[in-house]
Amino acid sequence: MSRPEILMPGRMLKSVNDALDQRFTVHRLYELADREPLLAEVAPRIRAIACGGGGPIIDKALIDRLPALEIVANFGVGYDNVDAKYAATKGIIVTNTPDVLTEEVADTALGLLLNTVREFPQAERYLRAGKWPRGPYPLTTGTLRDRTVGIVGLGRIGKAIARRLQAFDVPVVYHNRSPQPDVSYRYYPDLITMAKEVDTIVSVLPGGAATDKLIGRAVFDALGPRGIVVNIGRGTVVDEAALIEALTEKRILGAGLDVFEKEPQVPEALIALENCVLLPHVGSASLYTRDAMGQRVIDNLTAWDEGKPPLSPVGETPFTGWKTK
Ligand code: NAP
Repeated sequence: MSRPEILMPGRMLKSVNDALDQRFTVHRLYELADREPLLAEVAPRIRAIACGGGGPIIDKALIDRLPALEIVANFGVGYDNVDAKYAATKGIIVTNTPDVLTEEVADTALGLLLNTVREFPQAERYLRAGKWPRGPYPLTTGTLRDRTVGIVGLGRIGKAIARRLQAFDVPVVYHNRSPQPDVSYRYYPDLITMAKEVDTIVSVLPGGAATDKLIGRAVFDALGPRGIVVNIGRGTVVDEAALIEALTEKRILGAGLDVFEKEPQVPEALIALENCVLLPHVGSASLYTRDAMGQRVIDNLTAWDEGKPPLSPVGETPFTGWKTK
């Protein structure tokens, strides 16, 4: 029997490539300057896509070109790079890689929050620039000791961040569209009301139309001049232009960003600002965690190949059986 054919639009980990090559025929679109001839030739036979954020978008146009497509296995818990709603209308299952990255991303969020509030990167730059012998680094205005953190998007990662903050003795509240049954943190159905009552926001929201620029001028003004905004979710959630304005005019105290609107482009205006800490989307970026995420992609595709239920289908495409052709 011929091996199932898989499309890989963008680069993936070596471990994923090695494992998939053992079982499937993998067509690597990213290796070609002109992708069209290969796509035209293999499109009718493609039954699965292996993909990840940062690669090409898996949109309606691509899905429509692949009549035999049954599964899109995404590397990453966020899957705003895949039109999952459209996939659902075609009986295609989309899978992601939740849980295996939760603790790593929560660790990163705490690091970013501490770095932002206590200015550790700026202090390190001060030392490396040889300025310490001329006097100590200035005392920081920010401290976690007098802060309340409002988590926006208290899901798997948000809860892991909240647990860490509790250990740090920092009060936590949150905003979601609906309250979480398994936590006792105060719930705010309205984001602006929460922003008025806290001084620190940590956003762990997914991307997509529903969250686009949700955190903008109104939120910054509600936080006020002590305000700190940390974004570890998706860059599109924060209105970057409004954030640059708020940081420049010191209408908030600082920001810590792991994600940006148009990655890997980061506005020069943000880079020039001293009151923000910027990371190149490294939330889950350790070998340990990325390998675990890669293994989840492999496991989802293996389950599909064996006719078993996928390990982690996304909400839009609950598993009710594999599409029959
Ligand atoms: P999750 O468990 O699905 O949590 C997302 C939370 O956001 C849910 O509690 C959801 O609650 C809330 N939410 C969704 N849409 C909302 C809206 N429009 N308004 C208010 N709240 C909303 O997902 P997760 O595993 O924690 O991951 C969260 C996101 O983190 C991912 O989607 C990904 O984009 C991002 N992420 C970033 C990195 C990184 O490297 N920086 C790594 C991993 C993940 P309700 O449904 O009740 O609203």
